[in-house]
Amino acid sequence: MQHAPQIPVLEVDLGPGIRAFFTTRAGGVSRAPWASLNVGTAVGDDPAHVSRNRERVDQAAGARVTFVSQVHGRSVAVLPASDGPGVPSAPALDASTEADALVSRVVDAPVGVYVADCVPVLLADPSSGVVAAVHAGRPGVELGVLGEAVRAMVATGADIASIRAAVGPSVCGRCYEVPADLRERVAAAVPATWATTGWGTPGLDLPRGVLAQLADAGVTQVVHVDRCTRTDDAFFSHRRASADGLATGRFAGVVGARRSQT
Ligand SMILES: [Zn+2]
Repeated sequence: MQHAPQIPVLEVDLGPGIRAFFTTRAGGVSRAPWASLNVGTAVGDDPAHVSRNRERVDQAAGARVTFVSQVHGRSVAVLPASDGPGVPSAPALDASTEADALVSRVVDAPVGVYVADCVPVLLADPSSGVVAAVHAGRPGVELGVLGEAVRAMVATGADIASIRAAVGPSVCGRCYEVPADLRERVAAAVPATWATTGWGTPGLDLPRGVLAQLADAGVTQVVHVDRCTRTDDAFFSHRRASADGLATGRFAGVVGARRSQT
């Protein structure tokens, strides 16, 4: 196997024995407009390039990362307990699974989500080793996918008081313009999302909504990687690319429990 180069990642500390990070656009093999570390399979990029990029993400995670098909819903998929390395007969989750939150309690079986403006949220309870990766776009925030993910973690053995969360780069409230009726509806479900854009029109602040939902779910240890994908070209942004009439890629949020290095 060829040695893949190290990719730059934004590491977040979710506790001992947990590896968690967000990728950026840098370090991959995709060409423009997906340059370069695109991990999204449904955005028009060459599948061979996406595979090589995902291998680099696997290497950064220290094990193969499970991604599924995200559908802007609130379904949570839990990795089967036997779905670990060295157990090839176990039923794995893959692109045929549709879910917007993935839970794993298997050591060295990290889970990931891919985003370009939606909010990636990584959760971990280092005491039990239960982790979750959540894709929270506008529909996911409105539907409460985060609360569903936290409930699934607890059902899988996590201790709510020990869960730590990292909210990753996403479009911010000053950049995310929506029609007035949509702001009205989403803010009725999640008041913290109500926002006004930098140019004075109705907006939604998804990261603020996510932070409120985490607090509501009882998650108190939260870090926010407060970088706006729309204005920071270190990240893929669907809105920035669309404004330029271009396709774009997806970056990843990844979390997993690691085998003790001792
Ligand atoms: Zn912004």
